[in-house]
Amino acid sequence: MNLILFGPPAAGKGTQAKKLVAERGFVQLSTGDMLRAARTSGTELGKRVAGIMDSGSLVSDEIVIALIEEQLNLNPKAAGFIFDGFPRTIPQSTALDDMLKSRGSQVHAVIRLKVDEQALINRITKRYEAEGRADDNPEAFRKRLDAYTNQTAPLIDVYRGQGKLQEIDGMASMEAVSAAIAGILDAHAKTTKAKGAGAKN
Ligand code: AMP
Repeated sequence: MNLILFGPPAAGKGTQAKKLVAERGFVQLSTGDMLRAARTSGTELGKRVAGIMDSGSLVSDEIVIALIEEQLNLNPKAAGFIFDGFPRTIPQSTALDDMLKSRGSQVHAVIRLKVDEQALINRITKRYEAEGRADDNPEAFRKRLDAYTNQTAPLIDVYRGQGKLQEIDGMASMEAVSAAIAGILDAHAKTTKAKGAGAKN
């Protein structure tokens, strides 16, 4: 099963994705983590995206689509993927559909963590103090929220239109959010089984 964890920056997508990897054997594909890894290892790509990331803007669709394609190729036998921080634009979502379709698969569900913007700003201020990520500074974070609102949020209606969108309260405790996600995945597994379709990823 392929799942998109959807929501603004700092909504808790990464934390939940890591839990699903540990508990259900999904492969987490986080473009943010991949880009940070490229920066840490000092690759050309890392150097190219550093300034854009620190400013809080989105890197080009072309770059992140290529990163995802690479990972899909590296994990042909994965039981399922969790897309975390991808797609973030309409062209990225179209590319994802195409990449999965060409592998005989699709996006099965999109779980949106609904969060309150002011709470996010408070959360990120604390993370900035603790971890010092440049793109968590207040100005960059504001820009990341704007990028989410202008470029990413339009995907909500796209996935709602496809009947794939599930919305949960991202302001609840980490445990409650995990339980809500587990409920959705279990219900999906049941439906798939009942249909006799098999859980093809
Ligand atoms: P994240 O950790 O997912 O919030 O990503 C950190 C930064 O990496 C973002 O602010 C963007 O600059 C860049 N980034 C990560 N994923 C994407 C994506 N799918 N499209 C464009 N830029 C991305």
